[in-house]
Amino acid sequence: MTIASRWQKISEQIAHLANGCDITVIAVSKHQTTSSIKQAYAAGARHFGESYLQEAIDKIKQLQSVNDINWHFIGPLQSNKTRDIAAHFQWVQSVSRTKIAQRLNDQRAETLPALNVLLQVNISADPAKSGLKPAEINSLATTVMRLPRLKLRGIMCIPAKTDDQHQLTEDFKHMFNIYQQLQQQYSCVDTLSMGMSSDYLQAVANGANMVRIGSALFGPRKS
Ligand SMILES: *Cc1c(COP(=O)(O)O)cnc(C)c1O
Repeated sequence: MTIASRWQKISEQIAHLANGCDITVIAVSKHQTTSSIKQAYAAGARHFGESYLQEAIDKIKQLQSVNDINWHFIGPLQSNKTRDIAAHFQWVQSVSRTKIAQRLNDQRAETLPALNVLLQVNISADPAKSGLKPAEINSLATTVMRLPRLKLRGIMCIPAKTDDQHQLTEDFKHMFNIYQQLQQQYSCVDTLSMGMSSDYLQAVANGANMVRIGSALFGPRKS
């Protein structure tokens, strides 16, 4: 199967489940070539997700002439990455610390639109994963709302790997709950990012309006 035919299939499945709601598909292009990215773009993808900063910047520069791509940083965040992320990306999905939010705000150029931010939630309370505990979300949301160069758009999660479909559904439902509460507080909140190659249909069925799909679109990653 080609990238174009996989994109087509994924889009149709999601549209069928979404009941007229807009679902944004992030093509997760980490470890994929610019040639693969161009194929996904030609098929209709406009949002791309990257986890590794240097690799991402190289590809963003190569694709600079394609000016309607939205780049999402979805990988782990450290202080030494914030300057380049603020310069090259439209979205950051993995914010979970005040210090990182503050730096992204301070480093986002006035000439660029505010940087779209999702707060990463460790919804499965997985000790190996970063992200906020549900009880910590309000405090960081308040902070991000006060930072003028950041725009709070919502929350994202990476649930722990599990074969327990019931547990996964519970985690997605919990995220949707948190999302709805946040939306009631802040009218700028409009994005619930959850669901990957193995579970995107389940995520959409439980209220996701952004899914992040890598291998199901591009095929297996090389490394
Ligand atoms: C790699 C990655 C994805 C995509 O994973 P697939 O299983 O290949 O779809 C989604 N979200 C994050 C945060 C990732 O790191």
